[in-house]
Amino acid sequence: MTTNTANSIQSTFLRQQPVKMLIGGQWVESASGKTFATINPATTEVLAQVAKGESEDINRAVAAARKAFESGPWPKMTPSQRGRLLWKLADLLEAHAEEFAALETLDNGKPIKYAKGGDVPLTVDHFRYFAGWASKLEGETIPVSIPNMFTYTLREPLGVVGQIIPWNFPLQMASWKLAPALACGNTVVLKPAEQTPLTALRLGELICEAGFPDGVVNIVPGFGETAGAALAAHPDVDKIAFTGSTEVGRKIVQASAGNLKKVTLELGGKSPNIIFPDADLKYAVRGAMNAIFFNQGQVCTAGSRLFVHQSVYEQVVSGLAEYAQKMKIGAGIDPASDLGPLVSQEQLERVLGYVESGKHEGASIVTGGERVATQDLAGYFMRPTVFDGVQDEMRIAREEIFGPVVVALPFENVEEVAARANASIYGLAAGVWTSDVKIAHKMASTLKAGVVWVNTYNMFDAAAPFGGYKQSGYGREMGHAVLDAYTQTKTVWMGLR
Ligand code: NAD
Repeated sequence: MTTNTANSIQSTFLRQQPVKMLIGGQWVESASGKTFATINPATTEVLAQVAKGESEDINRAVAAARKAFESGPWPKMTPSQRGRLLWKLADLLEAHAEEFAALETLDNGKPIKYAKGGDVPLTVDHFRYFAGWASKLEGETIPVSIPNMFTYTLREPLGVVGQIIPWNFPLQMASWKLAPALACGNTVVLKPAEQTPLTALRLGELICEAGFPDGVVNIVPGFGETAGAALAAHPDVDKIAFTGSTEVGRKIVQASAGNLKKVTLELGGKSPNIIFPDADLKYAVRGAMNAIFFNQGQVCTAGSRLFVHQSVYEQVVSGLAEYAQKMKIGAGIDPASDLGPLVSQEQLERVLGYVESGKHEGASIVTGGERVATQDLAGYFMRPTVFDGVQDEMRIAREEIFGPVVVALPFENVEEVAARANASIYGLAAGVWTSDVKIAHKMASTLKAGVVWVNTYNMFDAAAPFGGYKQSGYGREMGHAVLDAYTQTKTVWMGLR
């Protein structure tokens, strides 16, 4: 069934190549005529040639978005009409769920069971949740202390929004960006990651089918240093929403300075996942496995620093290693696969480089640590890896690896582990496993992270705000918190005398 869907994608969506970009409601080639290849990481074969957007394409897309924002039917549409379009997009996506799941798996490598059970339904939900918000953006009346004044606020869209997203959850990331921006009445230029442009572009077809006016959503695939940088620096872009590495996040902030565009950033992490001795260890060990190996560890919230109380350390580490060894490594399109390939050769090399660094610094490998390369697994596969004998200052314990590699670190008490967990430049997420309610609350308030999961991990919902402390970013996505990031407040004073 899934293989058939994959075949049908090859014969329909990918039939016409290069896959074009969406500008002003038209599917167009790049101004330069250049293309780039997107690769199936399970096989290393080229999946498709895609139009390669560069600065001239970004200029065209920003101009289309500006026109749509200022003078198209979009600014005249009622909030309820905007909401209905978002809802219709959700319906269309749901009707094509199989196709999107297979396309995401082919382009990114992730196991199809997660694409089908997570990425696509969560994306549908995201559009539905924000469809509701379109008609609930209220201003306030302000009780000022000056007589004969009536003062109120309006919440207005920002204008043209540039959105730059990564390759780990390509479709979900597109929805996290598009849905709130559109609900608030902005127009958008979206740049998907060069490794995984396909689902965003296919979504663009559904956006046209749903009936969004031309130019409201423009999708320009291309590389970061060219298309991404041009968007971040563009003088007619009012806001940049970026998800990606902390390193590039810094460049986005610098590029935004030219016209002082608003910026929100969702960046990297090195999240602590902490197991106390009173935890239900069966769930905690399974939770630790999912926290780090889900999506091949290519998750910004990956529980990559596993702190385990010394009294249960051996038991947890050996249980985790056992799980890791049992995981079925295979092409994502195989429904039985638990762990797919990493997204690219470059990412595989980067992660294996960290494994070498860990060994070099004196840590020891409990399980994994190597590439899997067989005739059947020709892509960028590696074994899930657990490190022991790790010191907090080692690179593998400090830097974001963004792969299926966890470092296990024993601890003795609550204060010590809280301090060590917080000793990071990042502050995206944290996990706590305990059945002691006092420890749970103490840790939830002490950990410097935008999300704390207690006796669970990697839970996301369109209604629950998400974002980072410290160098994991600024601003929040999801929930009503994100609406602040896509609107601005205008205060109106009416003299009544
Ligand atoms: P990346 O920063 O290299 O790329 C992300 C996006 O930025 C891509 O679209 C890329 O083309 C673009 N880009 C690269 N250089 C650019 C530049 N100079 N100017 C403008 N755009 C540029 O990150 P990646 O390797 O693709 O993704 C992994 C990173 O993303 C990890 O650090 C991960 O933690 C982070 N991430 C964070 C979240 C979150 O919500 N906090 C979610 C997913 C991923």
